Amino acid sequence: MSASKAAPVRDRLRIAIQKNGRLAEPARNLLAACGLSWRESRDKLFCYGESLPVDLLLVRDDDIPGLIADGVCDLGIVGRNELDEQDAARRQRGLPSAFQPLRALGFGQCSLMLAVPEEWEWQGPAQAEGTRIATSYPALLTQWLQQQGVQAEVVELSGSVEIAPRLGTAELICDLVSSGATLRANQLKPVQTVLDSEAVLAGAVLAPDDARAGLLSMLLRRLDGVVQQQDRKLLMFRAEENRVAALAQLLADAEPLVRLPGEGDVLQLQTMCPGPLSWQRMEELERAGAQGLMVLSVERSLA
Ligand code: ATP
Ligand code: ZN
Repeated sequence: MSASKAAPVRDRLRIAIQKNGRLAEPARNLLAACGLSWRESRDKLFCYGESLPVDLLLVRDDDIPGLIADGVCDLGIVGRNELDEQDAARRQRGLPSAFQPLRALGFGQCSLMLAVPEEWEWQGPAQAEGTRIATSYPALLTQWLQQQGVQAEVVELSGSVEIAPRLGTAELICDLVSSGATLRANQLKPVQTVLDSEAVLAGAVLAPDDARAGLLSMLLRRLDGVVQQQDRKLLMFRAEENRVAALAQLLADAEPLVRLPGEGDVLQLQTMCPGPLSWQRMEELERAGAQGLMVLSVERSLA
């Protein structure tokens, strides 16, 4: 009898991702790159995990934080903008945090920015004092205004925020920007970043302690591997035979050097580096005898 109120023990992990939209395809591809597969039902709400007990729920991105908070899903792939907005809204209503970002995923980059009419000369946040600012991110904007010590009216709109100044419902807007083209088309310019965002894997503040715990840590391990692989660089260069040992030492964190056929004494070499190569590092390699250095990104495309 007393057990009837206990949380149900679940042995399958459930991940919410966007059904349609910017994050839908890359989220699915990322999870597939982690070795997950599903019984296909792209146009339905639920995908049953086949390779592992990890199911997908396809929803609107706005619903993802709430699904995690309610325990309907264990994880979600959502923009930091959406996650932080709903977290700030909970805090402003006196509710405790219920979800948190677990990993940044390297796609869906955009910024939540304050934009003003093109003719404004922007001198800083104090210029927003006494204005009306239209946004779909009222909690994040309210929090930012408080941090800046600026008093302004937050006008909440669910869409088409960029036309608010022309309609006379606000002087400024606070909206997501990636290229800025939408703003320009509406004679607005971005002036101030409120939040830099990208897609994140989000989870509950309280991690599961049943069979899902093992699945979660395995998924995170695989995810880290896949995300790391995306940063890999293919490094190619030429070097004389007698320089190769020193160069290999400088590249100790990379995969063993591969020798390709070269000309005469000069070898053609290549290796895979685990992360970006700094200019400093490239110069070190040149001093050690690397010639014609070339760095290629080996991105695993998730789009
Ligand atoms: P849904 O139907 O799921 O509610 P939506 O219209 O809210 O879709 P999208 O436009 O697909 O959502 O954007 C989803 C997420 O993509 C955003 O919350 C943000 O994190 C990210 N994103 C990246 N670039 C942009 C951009 N230029 N404009 C808007 N969102 C962007
Ligand atoms: Zn949405």
